[in-house]
Amino acid sequence: MAKVIKKNTKAAKRKTSASANTPKKFVYFFGNGKADGNRTMKDTLGGKGAGLAEMTNAGLPVPPGFTISTDACNIYYANKAKLPENIETEMVAALRKLEKTAGAQLGSEEKPLLVSVRSGAKFSMPGMMDTILNLGLNDKTVEGLKAWTGNGRFAFDSYRRFIQMFGSVVLEIPKSAFEHEFQSVKHARKAALDTDLDEAALREVVAKYKKVVRDNTRRDFPQDPMEQLRGARNAVFRSWNNARAKEYRRIYDIPDSIGTAVNVQMMVFGNTGDRSGTGVGFTRNPATGAKEFFGEFLINAQGEDVVAGIRTPQPISELERVMPKAYKQLREITTRLERNYKDIQDFEFTIQDETLYMLQTRSGKRTGYAAVVIATDLVKEKLVTPKEALLLVDPEALSQLLAPGFDAKEWKQHETVTRGLPASPGAACGKAVFTADTAVEWTNRGEPVILVRRETVPDDIHGMWVAQGVLTATGGMTSHAAVVGRQMGKPSIVGAGELRIDEHGRSFTVKGKTVKEGDYVAFDGLTGEVKLAKVASQPSEILQVVTGKMKPADSPIYQRFSQLLEWTDKFRRLGVRANADQPDQAELAYAFGARGIGLCRTEHMFFGEGRIPIVQRMILADNEADRRAALNELLPMQRDDFYGVFKAMKGTAVTIRTIDPPLHEFLPKREELMVEIATMEAKGQKGRGLEEKRTLLGRVEQLHEFNPMLGHRGVRLGITYPEITEMQTRAIIEAACRLNKEGLKVVPEIMIPLVGDVRELRDQKAIVERVADEVMKQQGVKIKYLIGTMIEVPRGALTADEVATEAQFFSFGTNDLTQMTFGFSRDDVGKFLRIYQDKKILEKDPFATFDAAGTGQLVAMGVEKGRRARPDLKVGICGEHGGDPSSIHFFHKVGLDYVSCSPYRVPVARLAAAQAALSVKVGD
Ligand code: ADP
Ligand code: MG
Ligand code: MG
Repeated sequence: MAKVIKKNTKAAKRKTSASANTPKKFVYFFGNGKADGNRTMKDTLGGKGAGLAEMTNAGLPVPPGFTISTDACNIYYANKAKLPENIETEMVAALRKLEKTAGAQLGSEEKPLLVSVRSGAKFSMPGMMDTILNLGLNDKTVEGLKAWTGNGRFAFDSYRRFIQMFGSVVLEIPKSAFEHEFQSVKHARKAALDTDLDEAALREVVAKYKKVVRDNTRRDFPQDPMEQLRGARNAVFRSWNNARAKEYRRIYDIPDSIGTAVNVQMMVFGNTGDRSGTGVGFTRNPATGAKEFFGEFLINAQGEDVVAGIRTPQPISELERVMPKAYKQLREITTRLERNYKDIQDFEFTIQDETLYMLQTRSGKRTGYAAVVIATDLVKEKLVTPKEALLLVDPEALSQLLAPGFDAKEWKQHETVTRGLPASPGAACGKAVFTADTAVEWTNRGEPVILVRRETVPDDIHGMWVAQGVLTATGGMTSHAAVVGRQMGKPSIVGAGELRIDEHGRSFTVKGKTVKEGDYVAFDGLTGEVKLAKVASQPSEILQVVTGKMKPADSPIYQRFSQLLEWTDKFRRLGVRANADQPDQAELAYAFGARGIGLCRTEHMFFGEGRIPIVQRMILADNEADRRAALNELLPMQRDDFYGVFKAMKGTAVTIRTIDPPLHEFLPKREELMVEIATMEAKGQKGRGLEEKRTLLGRVEQLHEFNPMLGHRGVRLGITYPEITEMQTRAIIEAACRLNKEGLKVVPEIMIPLVGDVRELRDQKAIVERVADEVMKQQGVKIKYLIGTMIEVPRGALTADEVATEAQFFSFGTNDLTQMTFGFSRDDVGKFLRIYQDKKILEKDPFATFDAAGTGQLVAMGVEKGRRARPDLKVGICGEHGGDPSSIHFFHKVGLDYVSCSPYRVPVARLAAAQAALSVKVGD
């Protein structure tokens, strides 16, 4: 304790002295081979700014500039959309330094400096925020630029681009207003491509654009470059809070509070003519992970053109032919970047008159499939160690690999109507819809959809998220749809150029066939094939191997997948178990690497074939003898279930929970019974049938509870009906004895749910011990077994030291614990949760991501008190949170022994547990 306090005061001192002597810095310069920042400063500089700084320090050709920090963004918001004087001054100082470095001045008519104003948050959010190019141009500087470069076409091409970007981003004029004018000039001049327009045509475009600005804002286009700069900078800050950026952050769990940085950077020009161009690329294939240089570029173009899908870009291999020197340099630089960052890089470049400039580098977004391939390849290439490789894979990516594919036989039977670019692998099948809103609407009513678009724009993100797959007619492998699709693990095909899409008419045609809204479309994102059919799916390749339908040797991806998971076992401290009730689920969990079952819900077995009537007879019995008779019928069935589960788990720990839900869940619904009885009476029916229904209804009414979740359930049932606990114990111990005789040693863990007071557990423990002794005597075998409890009632956690005197293990039931700690009913929370999240009362759904701050205190306390009373207490968690990566970090930190989750989440949990062990120490 003393240590902690000392540490805190030290830190506090450092903070005060730092803020007293050095005023906080908000603007970071990069240029002349040296940067104020570096790659570790993403929090302050954003990902883009940190990357630009790092590349500058590495001596790469990066246009100079400066980054205004994310802190400034937060101040901007706190300060009613204004930056304080000191930050303005700092920015102007950085601008002067940039002008010196560039040998040009903002607003100069001889040598005008032009800059880009680029957004860039800590986490990349492709296309969600805004960027403005060619800032600094006005009616005078554009002529200066022409005179300086001797290239009037280029000068006016840059100016029209600037007015359009500034007009839409800063002045909030709809893009279509500009687009309309641009098309009319192109049309009048019979120009097929933007590049066909000459200087005179572009002058005309500029004049029309200025009129659009005047008509829309009742002001002339701002001519003062400083006003332009401040306007653009503030608009970038504002774009942090546009609707699509917010939606993106919600999907990816990025905090709203971190803000964006703004990068102001000297322009270099890809639009000066045929010896210039711009492009984007990846050091490896981001869809498949294959080690191939991958990318696209456009000659005589500026940045946005490639991703916007205006002209179809050329594959990067073509660059080798047209500008071999620049191509070679680009390969060298990007290979170096990959080695430096030890990860696949996604880069942006511009070539101005054959000189290469790097504009961005970052770790590339990739599919789950590619993530596994790249991580294992990088180890093979000795670029990273297995430990580093584990940190390169998002645990969720592994669940993408388990998603189903098409049934191969059925897939072959349908005709391929067209092929597009395979942007993101996976099988997708659903009904065609043509807008993102429709996609959401239809999905909400339970219909699978394929979102079909000419091209997707960043605003479509909500529709992409819910769709089974995304299909576009234009765009390349690096277009917005492709990038976002890959990141989401959403099957995607882009650039399916044969599709004629009529978005207004909600249909498309391909090869003479018309597909209307609601018609089925299926596609394979790995091959790019599109079919017009409803095609059944089949389990993923990995699942086929795991279930023995395919040999590991025949599946390279399975080999990589299991290699990666084997590495996790070396580094993780947490055990991973599964929640499984049936032998087949247990087998699957074992094959995925679960070593143990953390929760076997015995009541699920009651719902098995032919059992419900027996269970109902047990419940309806109004005396103990009848109840015992029914339980005796259930006994052999439960015993067989347990036998199967134990066997599937090959002697690893199996925790079996005694009956938990309120009994009425096994009976018909009250309302339904009433209707049935009324109908029978109306029809004049009499006799035993009717009488039985009436008895049933009477019992249902007796069992009716106002708050069943807080009612007669869990240990309370075992206490009122000890015969149930007796039967279940007998079934467990008999199954274990039988296996012991067969040579498989199993150690059952019998778990009593919902204990809030040690005396409840004591009551049940006495029953379990008595019956277990009896059975062992009868069988003539002695086996080891444990008795423990779930900690899911807050009082259980608060008195964990007492409970632990009777329990050999604890398992935190975080579903109920969360429910009772918040006082939120799990089944009703949906009605208000979204509103809570919108109002920022809750950031996350506490039933999906564990509430470490609140409910976590009960867990920490439970562990601490429990272990104090019984040092060898085994502690685990078996709520839904056991498969959630960020929750797993918490469970690692508080020192649990294992997490337990559904079989399909086991791979995710293994990886998350390893990452937790590699990044946080227990007790930190
Ligand atoms: P995004 O985050 O949406 O990719 P960027 O800020 O990276 O936005 O800008 C998009 C594109 O604009 C870049 O890929 C690049 O081609 C172009 N661009 C940005 N800044 C400059 C610059 N200083 N010179 C030339 N092109 C630039
Ligand atoms: Mg970019
Ligand atoms: Mg529970």
